[in-house]
Amino acid sequence: MSGLEAVLAEAIRRDGLLPVARFIDLALNHPTFGYYRDRDPLGAQGDFVTAPELSQAFGEVIGAWLAQAWLDLGGPALYRLVELGPGRGTLLADALRATRGVPGFQPGLRLHLVETSDRLRAAQAARLAEFHVSWHGELGEVPPGPLLLVANEFFDALPAHQLVATARGWVERCVDLDAAGRLTFGLGEHRSPLGTRLPDATPGTVAEVSPARTELAYAIARRIARGGGVALVIDYGAWAEGPTGDTLQATRNHAPCDPLDAPGTADLTTHVDFGALAEAAAAGGAAVYGPVPQGTFLATLGVHLRTAKLLERATPDQQRALRAALFRLTDAGAMGELFKVLVLAHPQAPPPPGFAAPTLSPC
Ligand code: SAH
Repeated sequence: MSGLEAVLAEAIRRDGLLPVARFIDLALNHPTFGYYRDRDPLGAQGDFVTAPELSQAFGEVIGAWLAQAWLDLGGPALYRLVELGPGRGTLLADALRATRGVPGFQPGLRLHLVETSDRLRAAQAARLAEFHVSWHGELGEVPPGPLLLVANEFFDALPAHQLVATARGWVERCVDLDAAGRLTFGLGEHRSPLGTRLPDATPGTVAEVSPARTELAYAIARRIARGGGVALVIDYGAWAEGPTGDTLQATRNHAPCDPLDAPGTADLTTHVDFGALAEAAAAGGAAVYGPVPQGTFLATLGVHLRTAKLLERATPDQQRALRAALFRLTDAGAMGELFKVLVLAHPQAPPPPGFAAPTLSPC
């Protein structure tokens, strides 16, 4: 039994069934046993690989996007470059290297990283040593000012509730204990208030709802509406047009595993509902662009040309790795289609680079 399993069993015996969202939150963020508390989950030695770790071209083209977005803001002399969940700092290191030549861009930037893991904070400090960096536990701690915000594979790590349609209405999917005292899925006894806006559905249908995500999208939008700026959100998921289904997945050593097995030692995620993020952001006062598939977005930003440039100076091994990474980032069967890009911008600002018109505007 993992350390966290004992804590969870104790909590269930004391308080009753744990909603899946609470289970995810504890598994990822418990102060002693949480997965993200003090871990580097990335790379071959870890549990999963992310886009910036695959190819430097990813961070470099995003750097060019950020610089253009900054110019479109009128090139503010002081602005906040914020990354939510920066991992090893690779995306920003590549983005900032690629933007060295843009006059005024780097002198005006104040770098703010929202990160919980002490281990990753140390990796970010090492990677971004030439910059002055401030770390925060949450976005609310970042001082005011025009915002350039990036979040790659961050929203999927925020907890989601799972609601299950029953004859009694929508109830919470929960974590319970079986007769042997092991964790097992169960259903809450009462109708969930989170289900009141969901249409009736066939019993057994699952819908995921994440107030943590929509509240964050709303908060980012409020900041952009007040102080100006843009936010680039990249994650896997879709614009849900009905109940999302069950997308809870646990990953350990690059393979799927049982989410209830040794919680706190595997990554837990659910797909991001971009429609819910977009509506929350529009309600917060931002114009919403996309989502567009990651493959389309990166192609528009010139990731193929950038990779071709890198290939010129690469060894045969590096060339193989660069080509494989380009395929993985852009191909529809790999990350190109499942991953989506959503941009939040000030409603009076011109469309951000790569987009023509907003999908949603503030009501
Ligand atoms: N963006 C990086 C890492 C993605 S993994 C990349 O693309 O490589 C998720 C990141 O978010 C990690 O840095 C993790 O430690 C951080 N994280 C997860 N939950 C968090 C939370 N609730 N608050 C702050 N950081 C969090």
